Amino acid sequence: MIVQLENTISSSALFRLIGEIEELGFEATEVKTQKQSYLILTGKGQQDIRAVGHLDGVVDVHAVKDSYQLVSRSWKVARTTIDLGDGVVIGDGGVTIMGGPCSIEGLDQVDDIAAFLKTQQIGVMRGGAFKPRSSPYSFQGMGLDGLEMFAAGARKQGLKVITEVLAPSQIESMLPFVDIFQVGARNTQNFALLQELGRVDKPVLLKRGISGTLEELLQSAEYIFSSGNEKIILCERGIRTFEKAYRNTLDINAIPVLKEKSHLPVVIDPSHGIGLRSFVEPIALAGIIAGADGVLVEIHPTPEEAFSDGAQTLNFKEAEQLFTKARALTEFRAQHS
Ligand code: PEP
Ligand code: MN
Repeated sequence: MIVQLENTISSSALFRLIGEIEELGFEATEVKTQKQSYLILTGKGQQDIRAVGHLDGVVDVHAVKDSYQLVSRSWKVARTTIDLGDGVVIGDGGVTIMGGPCSIEGLDQVDDIAAFLKTQQIGVMRGGAFKPRSSPYSFQGMGLDGLEMFAAGARKQGLKVITEVLAPSQIESMLPFVDIFQVGARNTQNFALLQELGRVDKPVLLKRGISGTLEELLQSAEYIFSSGNEKIILCERGIRTFEKAYRNTLDINAIPVLKEKSHLPVVIDPSHGIGLRSFVEPIALAGIIAGADGVLVEIHPTPEEAFSDGAQTLNFKEAEQLFTKARALTEFRAQHS
């Protein structure tokens, strides 16, 4: 159960409220985000929520039956939008494309891609500086120096930066260079990382775990929200199944279902979702028709030479074709929704 508090609630009113709640047999956890304060009620209390609804400092009380609370759509019907500034908004009904290389490789690569994205009127550039590689002997990314170079190149073109963070200890040094922190599929249930990102006032794009259920994804999102950060974007990037014909099985079903279960924006990553360059476009377009609020896609001037994930990376011509079709489909979707 969620008790939405007035931001101006006095500490004495809050103390009284928690006392009343505990008397009803609930335990109360305080949550304070950039936007609002809440109490999350758990335990075996009688579900007579009217008993606390009239108390000082309470805006509203919502009974949420899901295992996650604040990210649930059952108490917040209006959809969350993430405003990155300079006209880039995720979740406002449009489709935000976030394009760029799997890995940041150097100055020329960053400049080439940033200039291309700018000509294509794309607002967000992706690129990994800390790479979660399955083998410790694979390229691990250029680290903080690479991220600094990435941010400088992207911002020169007015682009926002999304990049993956692997560990809580990296967050502080990354902060000045990041507009969206990406949590990768290998870290979806790294609860210490999620809690630390909850203390940051920057959006977090949270990928679905490699074998994660939607409920697990939403509970992970709840870790970030309940630690203080409401700015969360969910990402479907394919799951591991018995099928070996492609890298992952992108779960299109997840898009409308997540949007029904949660008020958070949902984006699709077709690159990791299928892992095959020639099918990235149709899968991205399928995601848009299914309701995705954005597409995270890997792009490189010469994918054959990319340091990582070249086989699923689009060249500029392929990316341009995807953008054109994505725009047309976004318009179609808006007209037919
Ligand atoms: C990535 O976006 O480059 C990445 C490593 O993705 P995932 O966590 O989905 O494998
Ligand atoms: Mn990749």
